[in-house]
Amino acid sequence: MLPYTLGVSACLLGQKVRYDGRHKFDPTLEQLLGRQCVFMPICPEVEVGLGTPREPMRLEGDPANPRAITLHSRRDLTDLLAAHARKRLDALLCMPVQGFILTCRSPSCGLRSVPVYGEGDRTAIGSGIFARACADRLPQLPMVEAIQLQQPEVRHLFLASLSGGHSSP
Ligand code: SF4
Repeated sequence: MLPYTLGVSACLLGQKVRYDGRHKFDPTLEQLLGRQCVFMPICPEVEVGLGTPREPMRLEGDPANPRAITLHSRRDLTDLLAAHARKRLDALLCMPVQGFILTCRSPSCGLRSVPVYGEGDRTAIGSGIFARACADRLPQLPMVEAIQLQQPEVRHLFLASLSGGHSSP
């Protein structure tokens, strides 16, 4: 059986692409899925040219449709990230991508785990700009946060769902 190809947040694969110039390497991905899966690194924030290190951002506003705002300069990066996500997904759909593994709590990659701030305090939980674009465009594609794969039942379900994932345009 050919391995599955998964889009993976690049910081989880050890690439130093986080806002602070660090990675978020998760060695268990290779240990748990390396025999069945090939990992394709994706970093939406670096790919739009934000550079590393960079000013951090957070989600603000309507939890169902939040904006990505830089913490200090208050730059709204939502449209930049969303436009890139659309283009990136178009490109990915030309490849045999069967699913995504994403970084929790990231304003770009987090999947239903990201704090969305209202006036002053944290008010809700939402998804990052890239993760939401993926979920909206490809609702049938298996997507999971890496941390969830530590649970054997979640990992089993994710692997089982890959065979039904998108594999062609
Ligand atoms: Fe890049 Fe996503 Fe990792 Fe943030 S969470 S550093 S956007 S890959």
